[in-house]
Amino acid sequence: MASKIVHEQPTIFIIFGATGDLAWRKLAPALYNLFVDKFMPHNFAIIGNARAKMTDEEFQGKMLEGVNQFSRNGKADKTLWKEFAQHISYQSSDVQDNASYKSFADFIEAFETKHKSKARVIYYLAVAPRFFPIIASKLAENNLATDPKTSRVVIEKPFGHDLESAKDLNVLLSTLFQEEQIYRIDHYLGKEPVQNIMAFRFANSILEPIWNRNYIEHVQISVTEQLGVENRGGYYEGAGAMRDMIQNHLLQLLCLVAMETPINFEADEIRNRKVDVLHAMRKFEPDDVQKYVVRGQYAKGWLEGEDVEGYRKEKGVDPQSNTETFAAVKFFVDNWRWQGVPFYVRSGKRMHQNTSTIIIQFKDVPHCVFPTQVTDNWQQNRLVISIQPEMSIRLQLQVKRPGLDMVLNTVDMLFNYKGTYKHGEPEAYETLLTDIMEGDQTLFMRGDQVEAAWELLMPILNAWGNRKSLSFPNYQAGSWGPELAEALIAQDGFHWFTLPFDNE
Ligand code: NAP
Repeated sequence: MASKIVHEQPTIFIIFGATGDLAWRKLAPALYNLFVDKFMPHNFAIIGNARAKMTDEEFQGKMLEGVNQFSRNGKADKTLWKEFAQHISYQSSDVQDNASYKSFADFIEAFETKHKSKARVIYYLAVAPRFFPIIASKLAENNLATDPKTSRVVIEKPFGHDLESAKDLNVLLSTLFQEEQIYRIDHYLGKEPVQNIMAFRFANSILEPIWNRNYIEHVQISVTEQLGVENRGGYYEGAGAMRDMIQNHLLQLLCLVAMETPINFEADEIRNRKVDVLHAMRKFEPDDVQKYVVRGQYAKGWLEGEDVEGYRKEKGVDPQSNTETFAAVKFFVDNWRWQGVPFYVRSGKRMHQNTSTIIIQFKDVPHCVFPTQVTDNWQQNRLVISIQPEMSIRLQLQVKRPGLDMVLNTVDMLFNYKGTYKHGEPEAYETLLTDIMEGDQTLFMRGDQVEAAWELLMPILNAWGNRKSLSFPNYQAGSWGPELAEALIAQDGFHWFTLPFDNE
């Protein structure tokens, strides 16, 4: 097949943790779809690694199952799959075992000899974070990632458990590799509507003049999930909503909304502008935490007509758990553009709906010329960037309703991906894997960005660690979170906007 990839270099993916959930649900469909859409180079190999004993064929079968269940394009095409599967092999070994790295080296050598070219080698660490330092060290010891131009190391989230562990991991990685080789994944950044925030902001001249404290009243960023912890209770107990969602995905969304205009589209320029936002964000003193931050944990409740258990009854969860499954924060960005504009951020599990939205509420008109009976449905202008459940951008405006009377109501100017484009958009992991092959780090976290995000959250995490919540569980599964989260925003005269977007 002719390939669309810019750098047509033979490529090897070595996936650690290849029998795990991420590899099965996300990486297998993404790699297959890239192959189908001709974004894989002509010569490539995928080696899966985990301890489970499996033949190449059994591993290919597991990958196929992942594609058939989770690919955005539905079941794999038989002929194309057969062709794709020829590139996949499996090696059973423990990541702590030196012998496995020797056999990777042999594989790479044989592959390069066969294709008479240096290979680009991508080491994808889809394993528990405790293995990140081990694998990174073994790769370096075995001289497997010596050339920064051709070897890349992909680190899944979470990157660190707190500021100290993130710093330790960064120090280790920076002694073993060049920063240009390190791809810290935050898969949210690969999502189409998230990438579009930059296009929307910086390719439209009408927005910049109003994108500041003079016109914007407040910003809301919500990522809410109906899912509980499923079978990841053990992992979640050590994480919680603040570490699992806010430290990475939500702060990255906030950075995209708040960043200054970059001078070009170079990865480091964009990452510099984002890290500027994190540095400008107001750090909480221990006493501020109670005032600006709310934590929650779900009790049993109802979701879509079904009874669901409370968090403390989930598998792998301590019956007295103090882990938060919900967090809401009122942040401030202390710079000229955003002084005084609150950024309300919330994320939770077992919430009423699956939503990922950024809502920018503009200030009200300075003087309303209409009589009150005309303005019953009055709503300030809002820009709603929706990532989930729909991918859309809507600008909510006031217009006159047709009729003999003057009555105002809110309408949407809508850009909806589904209605506008015929071709399905790539999954986040397709975008990210392509960028890794291409060596484009724009959508990946740089070491200092991760540390700045941890630094911002440490006062909150420390305060929560020092003081157990006496009110847990404090929201019902299937609700919109704890009442205190409503109070957090209500005290400023606002409320959380929910879907369907309320045109009050
Ligand atoms: P998982 O389902 O528990 O899979 C872990 C994988 O690691 C398995 O393939 C396991 O296979 C392998 N493994 C464990 N110990 C090993 C050892 N000593 N040597 C070699 N292989 C070993 O985990 P996951 O959910 O896929 O998550 C992987 C990483 O991605 C984690 O860092 C996670 O935080 C991150 N992540 C996952 C998701 C997701 O949706 N799942 C989303 C975002 C980030 P064997 O037991 O056979 O060795």
